[in-house]
Amino acid sequence: MDDEVIIGLEIHCQLNKLNSKLFCGCSTKHHEAEPNTHTCPVCLGLPGALPVINKKAVEYTIMVGLALNCQIAEHTQFYRKNYYYPDLPRGFQITQYDYPIAADGIITVDTDGHERTIRIRRVHMEEDPGRLVHQGSIETSKFVLVDYNRSGMPLIEVVTEPDLRSPKEARRFINKLRNILEYLDVFDGSLPGALRVDANISLRGGARAEVKNISSYKGVERALLFEISRQQNMKRRGVKVVQETRHYDDERNCTITLRSKEQAEEYRYFPEADLVPLSVSGWQHALKEKLPELPDAKRERFKGQYGISDNHAKVLTAEIRVANYYEYVASKIDPLLAATWVADYLKGELNYRDRDIRDAFGPDKMVYILQQFRSGVITDKGAVEVIRTLLDEGVSPNGEPRSEPQDVIRNKNLARVESDVTRTACAEVLKENVAAIADFRSGKAQALNYLVGMVMKKTRGRADPAEVNLLLRELLECT
Ligand SMILES: [Zn+2]
Repeated sequence: MDDEVIIGLEIHCQLNKLNSKLFCGCSTKHHEAEPNTHTCPVCLGLPGALPVINKKAVEYTIMVGLALNCQIAEHTQFYRKNYYYPDLPRGFQITQYDYPIAADGIITVDTDGHERTIRIRRVHMEEDPGRLVHQGSIETSKFVLVDYNRSGMPLIEVVTEPDLRSPKEARRFINKLRNILEYLDVFDGSLPGALRVDANISLRGGARAEVKNISSYKGVERALLFEISRQQNMKRRGVKVVQETRHYDDERNCTITLRSKEQAEEYRYFPEADLVPLSVSGWQHALKEKLPELPDAKRERFKGQYGISDNHAKVLTAEIRVANYYEYVASKIDPLLAATWVADYLKGELNYRDRDIRDAFGPDKMVYILQQFRSGVITDKGAVEVIRTLLDEGVSPNGEPRSEPQDVIRNKNLARVESDVTRTACAEVLKENVAAIADFRSGKAQALNYLVGMVMKKTRGRADPAEVNLLLRELLECT
């Protein structure tokens, strides 16, 4: 029997939709900036500089807590987590300890058709340290540069109970969390460094390893798969897995020992005397009112309001941008048709290209394409061709696609052929495929499909297959 896998996650998300850092007024918009240009005495940790809490960051964290079905604390307090590292200029990180802002939540994750409930142990706030920049790899670099632009960026840490049972489920959990945070508009998961994950992994009955600093969505599943097979191999060879902290190397796709249990860090948490404890329980009522519709609620509404399938509703509500895109299209054209084309075709083409809905063309263009399809100007093949062409052309610097759908229809000659053209093509195909006609007459039904295919080929997909089918039958009967 396979070993049962037990996974718990600690997920750090930057509240990168905030304009200023957690304890100072420095801008958080530094992704394009020169190193060390978004700093001040507070986030550089200069002596005597005093932190001031960013009220909006507290509100955002409470909103996250509410969205994850947590209890919001009566009081919350900040602590100093002491350790010495060059990216941490004060020698301590301001974080939370025994009074996290939110605790005891749950979210559901869809795992291959059934929903599983994953418990959230806590959600707390902390500041990001600076960023170390190595020349080349961490092992061969001759020097290290420090960029303090990131120092003091507001982070939340979401800690789960060890309820996850596979790397795939862990990836789905992280996706769901990302989507909820994006629905709340407190987080943009596409920015570099927005999300970092530490994972605790063990096989039932064995010691657990903590894998630190996984910094990409795909990395989480890969790191977990590697670590599980490492532990299984050890077990098979009769070697005991020891409790330790390991580092995930994304480039080599492996985990390496960082420290064992004997060397476990001692952070000496002290209450942060420069920040008073916050009484936040009274804040939650007003914030609850402000909560937007979240993915699960939106999914139910889409099913009821638009009559679409559960599967379509799931795909369309997973990301807020896809949901908004769909609702725009559904407001202009048959919602069922819109669901098929946005969830299956557009999302499918985007996934194939490993791209985001933000890289697609606007929903108004989708409406136009579907109108042309509905009114019979283009076939479904033609509509797919327009979508592919627009996606492959990409977007120009001002964000607009390079062509309009009508240009693609014209330039690629996608307009559906007239009935008489289809009829001529059918007659030609019958003339050229005498053997298939004989097959059809002798009762081989699939011979007709072959003939339809040949007509579609001759018209380069611009004929309507249903019409071709009817015409062929008609012609076969009277010849
Ligand atoms: Zn600052």
